[in-house]
Amino acid sequence: MIDRLGCNITYMRISVTDKCNLRCRYCMPEDGVCKKDHADMMTENEIITAVEAAASLGITKLRITGGEPLVKKNIVSICRRAAAVEGIKEVCLTTNGVLLPELAKPLKEAGVKRLNLSLDTLDREKYAYITRIGKLDHFLAGLDAAFEAGFEKIKINAVLIGGFNDDEIRQLAGLTKQYPVDMRFIEMMPMYDSGDFDEKAFIPYTRVLDALPEAVPVPHDGGVAKLYRLPGAQGNIGLISPVSAHFCSECNRIRLTADGKIKPCLHSADEYSLKGLDFDGMKKTLEEAIWNKPSWHGDLDALHRSQAGRNMNQIGG
Ligand code: SAM
Repeated sequence: MIDRLGCNITYMRISVTDKCNLRCRYCMPEDGVCKKDHADMMTENEIITAVEAAASLGITKLRITGGEPLVKKNIVSICRRAAAVEGIKEVCLTTNGVLLPELAKPLKEAGVKRLNLSLDTLDREKYAYITRIGKLDHFLAGLDAAFEAGFEKIKINAVLIGGFNDDEIRQLAGLTKQYPVDMRFIEMMPMYDSGDFDEKAFIPYTRVLDALPEAVPVPHDGGVAKLYRLPGAQGNIGLISPVSAHFCSECNRIRLTADGKIKPCLHSADEYSLKGLDFDGMKKTLEEAIWNKPSWHGDLDALHRSQAGRNMNQIGG
């Protein structure tokens, strides 16, 4: 389906829960409290009906996310059923990796083709600090499990945080030499509750290029990342700049939250509810949401926070 600005919307991100087994400081509050009733959240059947309605409008790619999607008990079944919907060509998943030792194989068998894993630091103490409760070794065990399961593609995502991991850019980028992975650096977005961070924490993607002068540009793969490669690397470096160089005109995605709201733009308060609707109702609502997709997400910086009205764990990154 084409939005009002002529963009073909083919990609839906589905948050299956806003709960998480970590508490990343830029993503969610320390208590992690989910204030919604269970009855307000999308059921598995509703999620699948939403996928069917979206596929009937031209969505071909899904990314399953959260919160942490792997804490959802029926995650394998959701992925299997979503991957089987007619018109869906690719199901990908974003995870912190902690539960991959148990779930990597079942997810691969269920039809998940690609994984994005989140990792902001290679330092054990800093990992424990930024995630508030996480252990780096659990991430590393998850990464091993992902390789063993044989996904088509594995990408590692780091949120760039000035004063926290800007001194680790070279080390993180070095993962592309050690493993067949893409390493992506994402500018930190000032969300509703990211009050722990002052202006200095929001640094532009160009810092990565400053730290890696030997990186050479490589052709765009159709995604939103600017791509580079280090000599001798097995994967690319991706730079994602929602803040300093937004890519709204190329945005082909919509988001479905765990409580059933379609967000046509990550940083807009506009939401269209699918909860409780049947296939036809969902399809009509999706059409309206896509048609009204905003043309850009507005200024974002330490002084201009996202207008989403939710933290990332409640939207789905
Ligand atoms: N729990 C999963 C994970 O850790 O990957 C999936 C959900 S998490 C919300 C998805 C991605 O959003 C993660 O890579 C996370 O780092 C990113 N993210 C969360 N808050 C962000 C922010 N304020 N700015 C940029 N990226 C953010």
